[in-house]
Amino acid sequence: MNETSLREQICLYGKSLFDRGLTPGSSGNISVRMPNGGWLVTPTNASLGFLDPGRISRLDPNGRLISGDAPTKEIPLHSALYETVPESQAVVHLHSTHSVALTMLPEIDPKAVLPPMTPYYLMRAGQTALVPYHRPGDPAVAEAIKGLAGKYTSVLLANHGPVVTGKDLEAAVFATEELEETARLYLLLRGLNPRYLSSDQVEDLRRHFPVNLPAHDHDHP
Ligand code: ZN
Repeated sequence: MNETSLREQICLYGKSLFDRGLTPGSSGNISVRMPNGGWLVTPTNASLGFLDPGRISRLDPNGRLISGDAPTKEIPLHSALYETVPESQAVVHLHSTHSVALTMLPEIDPKAVLPPMTPYYLMRAGQTALVPYHRPGDPAVAEAIKGLAGKYTSVLLANHGPVVTGKDLEAAVFATEELEETARLYLLLRGLNPRYLSSDQVEDLRRHFPVNLPAHDHDHP
């Protein structure tokens, strides 16, 4: 996909996410790795609902601004995934309500924030790791993401929001949406003793699809 199409795609997905209330105000940011090196990144203080393709920040392979508005200050969240997850070509970060709510619950397993509730959550987002709370801009949050050693493609920052990567922007957006909807299902069903997928059903999925379940091996040797 050429640069013009990538810029348009960032704006289309940004507007779609914003219009559905998945990230409010000027929160959330998107980046895409360029085929010839460097990144396209949404600008700082820009609402994802009102992006201008011509003003998206273009960064060189060293992260320096080449053109467009100043990039989001949350770039370290993105670079931490690009540096550690080999297949990452795009990163989406949102302040989406149900995912943020999930991070504040006492029972959350930091190695698998959600139980195996739906096949599409597991197939698109894989298991999701929880990163402890850091104040916005604290470089330690990027170090915490790097500490996951690229095992997770979806990460939740406590009291903040999801950071999700994918093999292209569409994959990253779809995975972020699955994470948010599954967090919503979890909150809807919390306390009602719901029936999650069984270990056999999860195993069956793993046999048929490339499902990323880093904590699974640990839990079920
Ligand atoms: Zn944020």
